[in-house]
Amino acid sequence: MNTSILGFNGKNNIYKISFSSNTNVISPSYNVLLVSGTHIVIPHEQLRFETDYNSYSILNELGEGACIELDTHGKICSTFGKNNDNTLYITDKCNSNCIMCPMAEPARKNGQSTPFEILDELIEYMPCNMEHLTITGGEPFYIREKMFDILTKLKSGNKAHSYLLLSNGRIFANQNYCHMLAGSVPEDFLVGIPLHGPNPVIHDTITQTPGSFEQTTNGIKNLLSTQMMSVEIRIVVNKINAPYLLELAHFIILNFPSIHSIKFMGMEMLGNAIINSDKVWIDYKDAFLYIKPAINLLISNAIDVAIYNFPLCFVDRPYWHICMNSITKHKIKYSTFCNDCIEKKACGGMFTGTDKYLSDKVQPITL
Ligand code: SF4
Repeated sequence: MNTSILGFNGKNNIYKISFSSNTNVISPSYNVLLVSGTHIVIPHEQLRFETDYNSYSILNELGEGACIELDTHGKICSTFGKNNDNTLYITDKCNSNCIMCPMAEPARKNGQSTPFEILDELIEYMPCNMEHLTITGGEPFYIREKMFDILTKLKSGNKAHSYLLLSNGRIFANQNYCHMLAGSVPEDFLVGIPLHGPNPVIHDTITQTPGSFEQTTNGIKNLLSTQMMSVEIRIVVNKINAPYLLELAHFIILNFPSIHSIKFMGMEMLGNAIINSDKVWIDYKDAFLYIKPAINLLISNAIDVAIYNFPLCFVDRPYWHICMNSITKHKIKYSTFCNDCIEKKACGGMFTGTDKYLSDKVQPITL
């Protein structure tokens, strides 16, 4: 997120937003950012400052009781509001090193983790009953048992109505971990796990991690067997796995008949994906030719499918209804050609980064 609250000069970095002059509305134990138009007061720190209309709009959209994390320059690090696109970011680190990961290898190996005390404070400050919360990284379970503590706190605080945990799933090959997760998850909990191919050769080539296919597939099996959460499989389509997507669909039908859904995803061309672009980049039109038969097979076997990150003009019209506007607002790019497209409003656009590969290939839809 690359937005700031103009004029901010506070000391702490996690605040609860309030628009009410009646400070009893929010427990006095919270550090409150009191908003009155463009005038901001932080009573705990005896601070007040003027902000601009843009910053006020951000705070206003987040709403009463939302949580905002700011750095010392006022840059927004994270936000949690009732109807916000809420993401709890755990760590940059990951025990895999996928060849098309949008983060580069050094970040995965040596990147930052959110300090535990910050995670705890964010959870405390989040409003209850948020519509949705995504928990992601890196690999969130890189921090191991602390994740169970986080999930228990989210559950006991009734923080969200639905959850998505993005994980490479390898840790759940361990039955103990799997049962501990089943014991700590809130209701309506979905785990999204990438499966890159129908066999270890394809999957492990993509994760650059020998043994990961076996761990991930065992992890998915173990999670499904608990019946305490749903599991979706995420397939990031690239030059290596595209020719195997139909085989992968067969594999899923045979091995994971109770899977919640399958998401076919376009690549975000940053980090490792850029470094390895000669190995992984596939034109989205060609990618869709491989996706199509796999989708048809999955749907005919009553498995839900969605397409993420593909602009509509790269997808055959009969499949538009399963194309999701999946790219986070601040990462969306359109080509200048898109101005002539009558479907621009319905189209989810391109990832910033991937737009360099797609912009001159878009085909504005005119009828
Ligand atoms: S031309 Fe642009 S707006 Fe239209 S479908 Fe393609 S990418 Fe989307």
